[in-house]
This record gives sequence, structure tokens and C-alpha cells, in this order.
Amino acid sequence: MPVVSQPVGGPDLAQVRRIVSEIPGPRSRELLARQRTSVPAGVGAVLPVFVEAAGGGVIVDVDGNSFIDFGSGIAVTTVGNSAPAVAGRAAAQLRRFTHTCFLVNPYESYLDVCEKLNELAPVPGEKRTILVNSGAEAVENAVKIARAATGRPGIVVFDHAFHGRTLLTMSLTAKNKPYKQGFGPFAPEVHRAPMAYPYRWPTGPVRCAEEAAYALADLLDRQVGAENVAAVLVEPIQGEGGFVVPAPGFLSSVANICRARGILLIVDEIQAGIARTGRMFACEHEGIQPDLITTAKGLAGGLPLGAVTGRAELMDAVAAGGLGGTFSGNPVACEAALGVFEEIEAHGLMERAREIGETMLEHLGELADAYSVIGDVRGRGAMIAVELVEPEGDRVPAPDLAARVARRCHAEGLLVLTAGSYGNVLRFLPALSISDALLKEGLTVLGEAIAQELD
Ligand SMILES: *Cc1c(COP(=O)(O)O)cnc(C)c1O
Repeated sequence: MPVVSQPVGGPDLAQVRRIVSEIPGPRSRELLARQRTSVPAGVGAVLPVFVEAAGGGVIVDVDGNSFIDFGSGIAVTTVGNSAPAVAGRAAAQLRRFTHTCFLVNPYESYLDVCEKLNELAPVPGEKRTILVNSGAEAVENAVKIARAATGRPGIVVFDHAFHGRTLLTMSLTAKNKPYKQGFGPFAPEVHRAPMAYPYRWPTGPVRCAEEAAYALADLLDRQVGAENVAAVLVEPIQGEGGFVVPAPGFLSSVANICRARGILLIVDEIQAGIARTGRMFACEHEGIQPDLITTAKGLAGGLPLGAVTGRAELMDAVAAGGLGGTFSGNPVACEAALGVFEEIEAHGLMERAREIGETMLEHLGELADAYSVIGDVRGRGAMIAVELVEPEGDRVPAPDLAARVARRCHAEGLLVLTAGSYGNVLRFLPALSISDALLKEGLTVLGEAIAQELD
């Protein structure tokens, strides 16, 4: 085969911000025109520049623009794009075999990933893990397991929750547009409780945890009937909902409320887990021990892999043949996941996530002091957001301002994502492989974008 020079990503990619065309550039616009005639309109793009290579803390597009990446493909490339251990292990596996179906012929790497998650997950006692293809599939399986283990149908979720786009997980998700509009009827036996969202709690942040816990217990005891509820499902930090960090103590109250009623606690770590917040699992910050944990996004460095890790007696409640899937736990994705854990350990990435969080909180705190439109700064580790509000009024969400600031950042070579039930949150999810120089440059670009929008 002829050797063709290909662009190479990974950490060796030049770590610079560089804008050489309009955004999107001419070549991206050509490809976008093809997308419009070949891909349905329902598949949107935050920043429609087509990618040629990525790594470290940057994404390089087909027009030669290099963006500082504060998105990580939505919290997926936590260890960096094409990180050496991930790319090396996956490439070697591609040459050995690509697939057997674990349900037909098992292979060792699947066990290695499960053992790793069992070792690390803050679930009490003996544990088991099942591997699947995506976050939504992990949540679906966690619900199946919880129902089979308890014999109860009900699932309780929270305001602002996001759990996926399949029928069940869309039903578990809170926000109507764009996730649910037109897609009903929804799955039954889903009940929703208020989230302990300190910035927007009606009586203020101080009483937030206690009042939200009371509301949950009331929903369980008086409306649904605790004996009808299999599980309470909660994100340790809400992702799409706007990086809402539950008021301190709320998650442990949820755990206690569940335990007292024989209800299982499922913690959805799909966005916040796998070293993103400075701990392997975000719920460790609150010291809780869930019955089941779902992971996906950051688990395999960009290859599709999700998992449910849970107490052995619950996981084993489903009869043989009740769980699985054709592609589930694909061997290339399993090798990639092992590479992710190697990268985290070899480079001290949990510590790095904490440092990134400190840098971001310090800079964003200064911005919040300077600009009253930054109503709240929150998050943990490399999962930080600002909530934008109108200059006048009491915490009035400013989604248009958030969209304009994001667009201006994009034009200046900084990829940021928006989030939140009101669309007014800018969220920052840099890879843990980003340099301090790029991180600070990105924060400077953000500050300038806000200043210019307010001019
Ligand atoms: C992204 C996400 C999901 C869904 O994951 P997919 O891989 O997109 O199906 C579920 N829960 C949370 C918290 C997420 O952030």
C-alpha cells in the first residue's frame, strides 16, 4: 500500500489557537452543503467546522483553523483526543480482531474493563459490570436491572435531568425542546422531583438541600407509593441541565431516603464520571454509595462504550440472556477504555482535573465580579459553567446572550458549548491534557467575548 501523508492528531499536534478563515471556512461550508442534502436537519452542529485532527487541547479543521477545545466532544475525550495509550491499544486490537460478539465468544479485555470499574466504583460490596454501546443504553440497562431486582416499576428522576434520547431515556429527560417535542407518547412509570438547584431554589440556597429532600420523600410516600418505586436516578452534577451541582448534603439525603424505603439509587455518571471532576466518580465528592452507576462518555476516549456497575446481587437478578447486545463491549472500545485508565494513572489526570478547576474558577470568579450578567459560576474540576442572566431583573435567564457569546468565542477560535434548561449556561469541559497556556488563553478569549457582547 502506498504511504500517504495523513494529518496526525494526539498530543503532538501544535498546541495553538489559529484562525485563518471565516468560521466556518470555505471547505467546511462545501461539506456543510453536502450535509444538508445527505443528513437530516434534526442532526444539528454546535460549530459546523469539519475536523481534520485533534489532540492535547485543540481541534484543527479542514480549512487549517485550530480551535482551543473547551468541549471535548461533550466530555468524551477527557484524556485527550487520540491519546497515545488509547490510540495504540485500539490500533493493535483492530489488527487482532474487530468483533466476535461477547455473547458468542468472550474475550479478556471485556473482563479487564469490568474488573477495573468494579475496583473503582464507590458501590458497596461485591460488584458486577455490564458493557454496552452508549450512555442511553447504560441508563436503559440500569432501569431494567433495577426493575428486575426489585419487582417494582417506578423510576423517579429530577427536574433539569438528561439521561438520553431513546424512548425510555428521553422519557426520563426533563427538557421538552429539543429532546422530546413531537416524540411522544413517552414511557410510563416515570415520576419527577425537584432538583436541589441552589441558584434557582425559590427560598434561596440555604434551605435548598433540605426542602428538595422533603419534596422527594413526599413524592415517594404520598404520590407514587415507595413500594411502587424501583429506583431514584440522579446525575451527581447535571450535565445538559446546566452543570447544576446539587446543594451540599442533598445527594446523601437522597441516598438515605432511598435506603429507608428499599428503593435503589442509580447515579448517572455518564457526563461527570471518569476523572472529569477530579475524582474517578463525581458522587465521591458527596461520599455516597449508590447501588448502580452508569458510565459512558469519557470511558473509552471517544470509542463508543457504556457501562452499568452495580451490587452483585442486583446485577445477577436478571436471568441469562436478559442482558447484552450484538456490539456491546466491542473489543476495540474495551482496549480504548483500558488505555483511558492507563492515561489517567500515568499522567495524574485526576489531580490535573482539580488544578484545571481551580484555574477556571479563579478566572471566572473575576469575570463574575466584573460582569453582573454572570449570575452563577459552578462545577467541579474540569466541568465548570457560568449561568448568564439579564442585567435587569432577578436571575432572568439570558439564552440569547449565551448564544452570542458562544458564537463570538467560536469565531475567535475557542470552542465552547451551551447547556441548561433555559439555554443560558456556557459550559467548559476541556480535556485534562490541555496545557495551562491554552486553558488561560481560552478563558481570556471568553472574557473578551463577554465584554464585546455587552458593549
Ligand atoms: C450524554 C448523557 C447521556 C446519554 O448518553 P449517550 O451516549 O448520548 O446516549 C445520559 N446521561 C447523561 C448524564 C449524559 O450526559
